[in-house]
Amino acid sequence: KKFVYDFNEGSKELKPLLGGKGANLAEMTKIGLPVPSGFTVTTEACNEYYKKESVLWDELKEEIFQHLGLLEKESGKKFGDIKNPLLVSVRSGAVISMPGMMDTILNLGLNDESVVGLAKITNNERFAYDSYRRFIQMFGDVVLQISKYKFDHMLEKIKQQRQVEQDTDLTAEDLKNLVIEYKKVIEKETRQVFPQDVKEQLLMAIEAVFKSWNNPRAKVYRRINDIPDHLGTAVNIQMMVFGNMGETSGTGVAFTRNPSNGEKKLFGEFLMNAQGEDVVAGIRTPQEIQALNSRMPDAYNQFVELTDLLERHYKDMQDIEFTIEGGKLFILQTRNGKRTTHAAINIAVDMVEEGLISKKEAIMRVEPQQLDQLLHPTFNEEELTKAEVITKGLPASSGASYGKIYFTPEDVVKINSTGERAILVRHETSPEDIEGMVASVGILTARGGMTSHAAVVARGMGKCCVAGAGEVRINEANKTFTVGNRVFKEGDYISLNGNTGEVYSGKVGTQNPQLTGNFQTFMGWADQYRRLKVRTNADTPRDTRQALEFGAEGIGLCRTEHMFFDDTRIPVVRQMIISRTIEQRKKALDKLLPMQRQDFKEIFEAMGEKPVTVRLLDPPLHEFLPHEEEDIRSLAKSMEVSYQQIKEVVNDLKEFNPMLGHRGCRLAVTYPEIYQMQVQAIIEAAVELKKEKAIEIIPEIMVPLIGEVKELQYIKDIILKTIEEIIEKSGVEIKYLIGTMIEVPRAAITADEIAKEAEFFSFGTNDLTQMTYGFSRDDAGVFIKEYLEKNILEKDPFQRIDRNGVGKLMEIAVELGKKIRPDIKLGICGEHGGEPNSVEFCHLLNLDYVSCSPFRVPIAKLAAAQAAI
Ligand code: ADP
Ligand code: MG
Ligand code: MG
Repeated sequence: KKFVYDFNEGSKELKPLLGGKGANLAEMTKIGLPVPSGFTVTTEACNEYYKKESVLWDELKEEIFQHLGLLEKESGKKFGDIKNPLLVSVRSGAVISMPGMMDTILNLGLNDESVVGLAKITNNERFAYDSYRRFIQMFGDVVLQISKYKFDHMLEKIKQQRQVEQDTDLTAEDLKNLVIEYKKVIEKETRQVFPQDVKEQLLMAIEAVFKSWNNPRAKVYRRINDIPDHLGTAVNIQMMVFGNMGETSGTGVAFTRNPSNGEKKLFGEFLMNAQGEDVVAGIRTPQEIQALNSRMPDAYNQFVELTDLLERHYKDMQDIEFTIEGGKLFILQTRNGKRTTHAAINIAVDMVEEGLISKKEAIMRVEPQQLDQLLHPTFNEEELTKAEVITKGLPASSGASYGKIYFTPEDVVKINSTGERAILVRHETSPEDIEGMVASVGILTARGGMTSHAAVVARGMGKCCVAGAGEVRINEANKTFTVGNRVFKEGDYISLNGNTGEVYSGKVGTQNPQLTGNFQTFMGWADQYRRLKVRTNADTPRDTRQALEFGAEGIGLCRTEHMFFDDTRIPVVRQMIISRTIEQRKKALDKLLPMQRQDFKEIFEAMGEKPVTVRLLDPPLHEFLPHEEEDIRSLAKSMEVSYQQIKEVVNDLKEFNPMLGHRGCRLAVTYPEIYQMQVQAIIEAAVELKKEKAIEIIPEIMVPLIGEVKELQYIKDIILKTIEEIIEKSGVEIKYLIGTMIEVPRAAITADEIAKEAEFFSFGTNDLTQMTYGFSRDDAGVFIKEYLEKNILEKDPFQRIDRNGVGKLMEIAVELGKKIRPDIKLGICGEHGGEPNSVEFCHLLNLDYVSCSPFRVPIAKLAAAQAAI
């Protein structure tokens, strides 16, 4: 089996085998771009490595050295040579790009002898030792696991001794000394000398890349981004080109379009006399790419041409790394660039208009989940005019956010878990900070550019980020930062504008976004292709209006009990619950009736004639009662009954397992008058609207928690009587549907029987998942985390429909239901209705609609369109 591919043997189609970086290096080689030669050790080799209990086997080593031989021949240099040494980079390259997550080593092949050769042949001793010290540090960090800080510390010390600011101000002599110090660090930390055998260096480095696939931060990144663990990483071994050879050399990164807003203009940064990571790490502040034009017009023009070519070749915005060695341009990487959603939509729409891609392709270009970014608030204009700008950094990732400042990722995680909004403030972020970044509502860094780690990762997460705010002086020990003479302490509020880079003191309120322009165009295209309808879960007239703004096509779930919690209503609800006789209960219900009717009227009216599914009372009654003695006493007083009386009811209603207890339709079997009141409110609302405004509503009345058809028959009988009476009395013709939720596994399995009584099914996948797995929704958080970490579950089944189990039940229910009632209406109203993967599944099941929370409506729509394409 072949485990190693030369760059000129591969192509972009081989991405699963060669990894993203390797496949694109091969593709660029194929189309004739100036890419330094090299070869790729495949992802299969990585997986094989893990299968072989983490040892590199002999055949693989042979194959690697054979390709290295070819590289030597081509370059005319020899690996480890004392006269003209071949140096390589060892670069990880996963199938799905994981920026900054994996480790890269540059200048490999240097040792105490070859560095002398390199100095001689380039006639540049400073450069040779600069390369060597970089190599030792990277090798020490990545392969030998010595913290970078130990090396940085030595570097700072030498800079201080020599009284210089920049790394580039150090002389060859300084760097030689630094190399000696670095090697001492290695000896001290590992009790071994720095490996001088270059072949050993190479094998150790390859192994380290394989290992880095399973380092903690890579694992976290994969978990957050849903990247499977079994993909493995490829390793690219590539001839070095040097951006650190002096003033006609440099390195940089550029995007073919602006990754923040999508503007069609080359966007990037470069540093002269620097190598690879310097730009990304934010060590020196880079210059904007256009400035290269005046320094090296030839290289700049060639670069512009190539970026253009690459974008047209890949038909997508590219993120390109380049290095210039002695005036000669090399391309080191290209990939589809990460971008904010705002940019993603603008670019997709622009590219359709430019004729570069089709509408269908455009729709596939935006991750549905990403839309979330757009749907969230921007600053409230009025508060913004009053807000005080304390400083300005780079607008690294758009959005607006306020929160309390914290200086370590750990603190942010802690504060976030208490429900507070935390902003992470850092000199610059590093991959170790990832969990803190996830838990933050925004990120502020003092250093680093638009392509710094913080910027790239924040954009990927859709998190608001201001980077490189140079005036911010952070004192981590005191947990403060200062700007000029103003001091901000841990826990103080600030606000960040990721669109402008402005930082405000205090809390600036936010407001909902305007969804117009390209967003509208784009969503319009999605509407053309999708088959699934998208409804929303809305319980109040206010939610309803919000959902309509986001484009909801109906209400799939209106939870009537949410109306009960209102301050004016809860006393009446409680009165109903503590009633001892049916008369007492009816009296309380009579008081609730007009309130519910008014709610339904407002909701129906807001929806126009769009369909509305109303679920009858679902939760166990004890949820409406107080449980603390004090609260019970005050309730008793206000209701003018004895403490004892209420206490008894509370005790009676106590259940060992409320989620499986007296709730849903089971309540109505005991107290049919509750559902009677609710359907009365629904139908009367419809009658009044028809009379008063000629709005024709077809209410869909949904009975929860049915597991046995006879439950439904019993309840339906009762509510039908109520409904027909009202209709008759009013003399107004109202159409309505009666259906049920499918959320008890038994209901799914006996869906043919249930379909005889139900005119529609709505899958309540929260309860269905709970009961299928036997995982309590309220308790599962603790152990599901373990399950995910140990790969027992790939994904939390409460977030994404478990297709094999819960999905199977849904499939059965659809099939059985349709057999009895071919035109049965099918929908889903669990949390899953707004999760793209689950939406796709609903499309495949041929449901009529999904229903999700208002903020997820556009997400579901896009996911539905993608499922249909
Ligand atoms: P990452 O995936 O973290 O970007 P890369 O493998 O792309 O890691 O490498 C890190 C840096 O080193 C990049 O700036 C890249 O351009 C640079 N680099 C990698 N290989 C070479 C090489 N052969 N010659 C010069 N620079 C290189
Ligand atoms: Mg890179
Ligand atoms: Mg339920």
